[in-house]
Amino acid sequence: MSRKYIFFTGGVVSSLGKGIACSSLGLLLKARGYSVTIIKLDPYINVDPGTMSPYQHGEVYVTDDGAETDLDLGHYERFIDEDMSRINNTTTGQIYNNVIQKERRGDYLGGTVQIIPHITDEIKNHIIMVGEKTNSDILMVEIGGTVGDIESLPFLEALRQFKLQNKVEDTLVVHLTLVPYIAAAKELKTKPTQHSVMRLREIGIQADVLLCRTDRILDDGTKEKIGLFCNVTPDAVKTALDVKTIYEVPLQYADSGFDQLVVDHLQLANNKADISALRRKIERYKNVDRAIEIAICGKYVELLDAYKSIIESFVHAGIENDVLVKLRWVNTENIEHDGLGDKLAGCSGILVPGGFGERGIEGKLSAIQYARENKVPYFGICLGLQTASIEFARNVLGLDGANSTEFDEGTKYPVIDLMESQKEISDKGGTMRLGSYPCTLKKGTKAFAAYGEASINERHRHRWEFNNKYKEQFEKAGMRISGLSPDGNLVEMIELVDHPWFVGCQFHPELKSRLSKAHPLFRDFVAASLKYSALLKK
Ligand code: GLN
Repeated sequence: MSRKYIFFTGGVVSSLGKGIACSSLGLLLKARGYSVTIIKLDPYINVDPGTMSPYQHGEVYVTDDGAETDLDLGHYERFIDEDMSRINNTTTGQIYNNVIQKERRGDYLGGTVQIIPHITDEIKNHIIMVGEKTNSDILMVEIGGTVGDIESLPFLEALRQFKLQNKVEDTLVVHLTLVPYIAAAKELKTKPTQHSVMRLREIGIQADVLLCRTDRILDDGTKEKIGLFCNVTPDAVKTALDVKTIYEVPLQYADSGFDQLVVDHLQLANNKADISALRRKIERYKNVDRAIEIAICGKYVELLDAYKSIIESFVHAGIENDVLVKLRWVNTENIEHDGLGDKLAGCSGILVPGGFGERGIEGKLSAIQYARENKVPYFGICLGLQTASIEFARNVLGLDGANSTEFDEGTKYPVIDLMESQKEISDKGGTMRLGSYPCTLKKGTKAFAAYGEASINERHRHRWEFNNKYKEQFEKAGMRISGLSPDGNLVEMIELVDHPWFVGCQFHPELKSRLSKAHPLFRDFVAASLKYSALLKK
């Protein structure tokens, strides 16, 4: 079988959920027995999103091999349950970087280097290379941005050429578009879709499938109209319905026959997908009759994209614990301004996520002190481990002014300090401790109980570390070091001995939680929070 390529473009507006659309189709195709991988092509000039602020870009998703990538790769991993790597995300910046390096080396033999063919060739070669390296039956390509943007034009031009240069049955273009319902007219409106398809056709691309995001099932008349104006048959117009949870999307696609249409177009063998287990899981989750609330104490809380993987990890953990986990977003700067008050009241668990910079740190320390003293389950991720260490040093060990050198370079008690290897680094891009590292867990700890094994691998993204000088003092006072790098040099996990569940990790477990299997730390944190919520009710 020759390799099949499915391209996803987006029209009308951004945020229609192209990443989830790709991931959902990927899940269905994998369930039919095909090996699938997904690439995201991002039109911005940054080499990767690692240098962008969370306000600009949302979460930076880190792969095992240490690439800082787009958050859609998180959806890919969570849905299709395959590890992504550096090659699954490329940007205009990377493409130009490669071409310019080749030009400097003289690879173009005196030619004038141009967008067509050099940039478009680089894009096409990248796509082909990923297919070969991953040896996937089906390669899906999500083109970032919205049709009509200047910056995504080279990617779309590469797609036009790619389609022309491959067999009709080997490529498929899915255009995700919006069909809004206008209440005053009581009508679904097709004009925005017509216009965005027109823009695609102007640059020589005919979409094969129109995936229409809408709040109601498209009736036959609407499908016919869209088909006629957009040059596809009505059965190639598919409804992408708004649903309660994103994990329902694959089920809805299967019901609408989207994956069947794809299989037919690509002339794939018609193996059937058995998604009944997923269907049962989602049905059960939609009907759970208990809920708990967990506070996320961070600083980017107005922008939930910054915590995408954490949010999804709680869905997975909620599914496994049969509970709806509601998240309360607490901006820790507000705690600094007007105290803790009742900001955490009624919460059954407290989580401090990763973050950078000094803003909001003192508020986090107050939240952590509250969790420690009131025995509320606490989960500290990366910065959440670091701040838990600072809080413990100040309030239990009595080390006044203890801090991380990230926030106070001259602190007398640098319980969190820069790694030696980080001290000489001046470049900001791609220079943190990034990607998967092994960790050894101590038996008899909550960490070990969660994982059920001593050797684990988790993904990192940070510069600072727990300062080993304070290890003994911490252990003596009841803060156990439960996970270490195999050489014993780096503290990876800590936990309070005398507390129902107070765990910190230097890595980002949220990057490895999957729909098919919740991350053990999130699962156990939610379980501990459930227990605490029962106490709250008494
Ligand atoms: N700012 C801290 C560091 O660089 C924590 C980073 C994080 O939470 N991802 O070490």
